Amino acid sequence: MDQGRFSASGLWERTCSSIRARVPENVYMQWFAGIVPVRMDDSKIVLGVSDDIYAKWLTENYSDILTDGLLSANGKQLKFEIETGHSVSFPEEDAGEDEAGAFNLESAHGFSTDSGTAPNCLPGYTFDNFIVGEENRYAYSAALTAAQAPGKFNPLYIYGSTGMGKTHLIQAVANRVHKTDSDTVVRYVTCEAFLNSYLDSLRTHSTFKSHFEFRNHFREVDLLLIDDVHQLGGKDQIQEEFFNTFNTLYNAGKQIILTSDKRPSEIRGLEARLVSRFESGVTTQITSPTTFETRLSILQHEQKEQLVKLSPDVIHYVAERISSSIRTLKGALMRLVAYSSMLGRSIPMAEAEGILADMLDKEAQTRKVTIDRIQQVVAEYFSLRVSDLTGTKRPKNIAEPRMIAMYLSREMTEHSLVDIGNAFGGRNHATVLHAVAQVKALSAQNQDLRHNISAVKRKIQG
Ligand code: ADP
Ligand code: MG
Repeated sequence: MDQGRFSASGLWERTCSSIRARVPENVYMQWFAGIVPVRMDDSKIVLGVSDDIYAKWLTENYSDILTDGLLSANGKQLKFEIETGHSVSFPEEDAGEDEAGAFNLESAHGFSTDSGTAPNCLPGYTFDNFIVGEENRYAYSAALTAAQAPGKFNPLYIYGSTGMGKTHLIQAVANRVHKTDSDTVVRYVTCEAFLNSYLDSLRTHSTFKSHFEFRNHFREVDLLLIDDVHQLGGKDQIQEEFFNTFNTLYNAGKQIILTSDKRPSEIRGLEARLVSRFESGVTTQITSPTTFETRLSILQHEQKEQLVKLSPDVIHYVAERISSSIRTLKGALMRLVAYSSMLGRSIPMAEAEGILADMLDKEAQTRKVTIDRIQQVVAEYFSLRVSDLTGTKRPKNIAEPRMIAMYLSREMTEHSLVDIGNAFGGRNHATVLHAVAQVKALSAQNQDLRHNISAVKRKIQG
């Protein structure tokens, strides 16, 4: 693997010089300086960035510059591929003065041991950079407790849909422990990396020379933090390994923190014994940033670090209009900052709207589809009241629309079965699951039902 990495790094260094000569320095620093050359072969180079917004931004806006840069550095065309999930590190402001240090591969890979950042973690993912609001207050305190008193809340299970700050929070624990207590071993890993290491350990010539080493790697720790455990669903062999790792650590009183996009009981294909282990400690949800104040503080905090400042009315506008996730919120800010930096001037309100048009469209779509809206439309369509749908009466003319409404809530929103059950007069999740299955089965045979469902759906989408 090192062969690929070294040649990738040499080529990437030359590419950077070429790009740097073509774009303003602040653009270079903001978008290119942190890219990690991961590997290359004859046909392409793989470039690592932190997340999908960064990746999308690069591909949409700088593909040509990257392609040209690679051409001039390589002497012939070379494709590139962007891979997310890498620790990007931005050089200090004066790094450009230092010829040899212009690009430090070690620190860019997060290998450097003297840094204050835990392995595999981003330096910016700290408790200090995490804005606390109603939506994440409990998850924040639980994570902080786990960092300060490992083993107290065990396991800690944090769930919520994408872009809500789960990775930020779990890495904040790793960074805090790494920084304050060098004797405590904290290991952060994505579920996917755990899985890959496991598969790797079963092969010969593996990174972990034997399966034994793999086990020790994850079991001889004080805190094990595993991100996105919903990926265990349906993967039986790794679940067995995971179960054993979990038990070893748990029995030794070591802190385990897990994140997921669902409650344990809702991860499809997760063994019952793991579900019950995951639920046995503290479970906490992070929801979307519902309050304007939280969103505004996040943007203001983010702006402190940025060289390009946006006007307060533009910041307010973004906080008001983007609420689906913090990732999208920060993505909108990043896009405006990049525009402002490229144009070399400030962005007036009217222009901001145009620059964010596609994001605002998506927001409008996600915002419109709520369980409330689904209930209203279904009730209206079948000439019922919303209270009929949430009530307990069971005549057929109510029971069927109620099932349809539950089915659509499951299909068109990100709410869990439990949340949906609650919104329908406190029914339990099994009732919702049953309704969803029944609508699916019935609509396969019944054309009228299919017709009704799609008519309602169109109305909901407005
Ligand atoms: P998830 O893992 O839930 O998909 P991430 O942790 O990757 O979400 O968060 C997405 C982005 O939003 C990251 O840039 C992260 O720093 C930021 N973010 C999330 N929550 C907060 C918060 N409470 N305060 C500041 N930034 C946040
Ligand atoms: Mg994440």
